[in-house]
Amino acid sequence: MQKLQGISVSPGIVIGEAVVMANEGIRVPRQTIDPAATDCEVERFRQAVQTTVKEIVRTKQSVVSQMGAHYGAIFDAHFALANDPALATEIEALIQHEFFTPEYAVTRTLGRFSRLLRELSDDQLAQRAFDIEDIEDRLLQNLLGRRRAEQFQFTRPAILLAHNLTVSEAANLKRDLVLGFATEIGGAGSHTAIVAEALGIPAIVGAGDLLASIGGGETVIIDGEQGIVILNPDDETKTTYQRRIERGAQHAQQLTSLRDLPAETQDGTRVELFGTIEFPHEVDQCLKQGGEGIGLYRTEFLYLGAETAPDEETHFQAYRGVLDALAGKPVVARTFDLGADKFPQLKPPEDEHNPCLGLRSLRLALRNRPMFRTQLRALLKASGQGDLRLMFPLVATLQELRQAKTVLADVMEDLEEEDVSFNRNIKVGMMVEIPSAVVLIRRFLPEVDFISVGSNDLTQYALAVDRDNKEVARLFNPCDPAVLSLMSEAIQAAQGAGIPASICGQICNTPRNTMLLLGLGFRQLSVSPAAIPYVKRVCRGVTVDECQDVAQRALAKDEARDVEAILRSEWQKRFQPPDD
Ligand code: PEP
Ligand code: MG
Repeated sequence: MQKLQGISVSPGIVIGEAVVMANEGIRVPRQTIDPAATDCEVERFRQAVQTTVKEIVRTKQSVVSQMGAHYGAIFDAHFALANDPALATEIEALIQHEFFTPEYAVTRTLGRFSRLLRELSDDQLAQRAFDIEDIEDRLLQNLLGRRRAEQFQFTRPAILLAHNLTVSEAANLKRDLVLGFATEIGGAGSHTAIVAEALGIPAIVGAGDLLASIGGGETVIIDGEQGIVILNPDDETKTTYQRRIERGAQHAQQLTSLRDLPAETQDGTRVELFGTIEFPHEVDQCLKQGGEGIGLYRTEFLYLGAETAPDEETHFQAYRGVLDALAGKPVVARTFDLGADKFPQLKPPEDEHNPCLGLRSLRLALRNRPMFRTQLRALLKASGQGDLRLMFPLVATLQELRQAKTVLADVMEDLEEEDVSFNRNIKVGMMVEIPSAVVLIRRFLPEVDFISVGSNDLTQYALAVDRDNKEVARLFNPCDPAVLSLMSEAIQAAQGAGIPASICGQICNTPRNTMLLLGLGFRQLSVSPAAIPYVKRVCRGVTVDECQDVAQRALAKDEARDVEAILRSEWQKRFQPPDD
């Protein structure tokens, strides 16, 4: 039995069989072919090259149209490599004279090149090594006729163990077959983590050396409550966890009775609980859990996993679907928040050394007007079908906010000219998730109808800690007093100005933090659908005075761990079952 401590990014406990996703691309054994099949195999290699070249061209076109020519240039190097006649000759010679399989010939040739480049320890050449590895991967995938995410076989429900999962890979996991997952790297605030929560499966990231001693088929426990992965558990451990799973199920069952009751504190203060979603299908789950609407719809997930940017109709259908399912309840659709770790099928530009500080989110939208306008048109067209509100992400400056609103006004004019009906009075809000927006919050407020404090990015930017980096994961703490002060400043200012304010991000999903958020002044929380009943239970069990006391004590602390100690002790005193 081996226990590994990672970072829990989606709660729940699961016991199951391990399925391992290959660590670095595809491993190809040294295998030979029947000499009589040489011509056939060479042809197979040439076909794979052609498919690869077509893919590169398609990806480049899609990237240029979505992100601009600058990003498309990344693929020029790939194109040149895939078309390089010297490389093809060398690989074909290995097939024709050594009778290696095309897969092995590709790996051997390209693997050697990339190793040689790396050994030269020159930054620019190392970048070329990445390009070569990328081409190697693509060629192998086309030769084998499968994608990385399809390499593991889920014939029955199992637990996925991987070195890392990209956000698109996580978004494409089959919910009925993947019981849970754990990765070796990754941080708490990453979007892969957020997707795991959306899928509603227990998940752990940053668990370290997971794959070293595991080949697939072993029993694994994912303890999403404590962030622990247990490989090959002994019988006693399995029994203990089995009991915890049963107790958790009973508890969840008891909470279903809260579904139709309001999230109202003991002293009669009404709290509104909304769901945070990434995919339209989550609306049902949100309503089932008693959600009062959608407080954050991360629309960028429409782009992830798609080969090309979604067109206006695709956007429109998604928004209409969400509004129909909500039957009059509100939804706050955030315009796409792409970039940083959320790139649809493409790598960030080569010179993007700090993607979180780079061309992402609203900045990317303002730089790519046609793409932005397509989404805004669809949102406005859908706005007549329900209570749709619109929110801009990652607003750093007033200038950006004003530019975004100008684009919106332009799009409205176009629609009016086209006689398309939409809600001209649609509410327009902004995410407050960069410290600069908090500093100038009183100047931002008159220009928006509402704000939503984004606790994830606010933590990332206030503490200068990459939310996706395992090395600094312990420093990523939204309960840090500095972050809490910023939240407090934002909500106080919004209340003073009479502007509705909510909070979203992962701090909201842990019921242990609910008293703190209520005490800071928030009355609208956007939480993951699965967490709604747990958060509601806390709201109904406390008074505002008690919450304010918690928040005041937390704000007065110097360190995040002291804040956590307060929250833990309140939780144990009030909500923790005695035998847990
Ligand atoms: C946030 O930053 O808190 C947030 C809710 O947005 P995202 O996690 O999508 O960046
Ligand atoms: Mg954010």
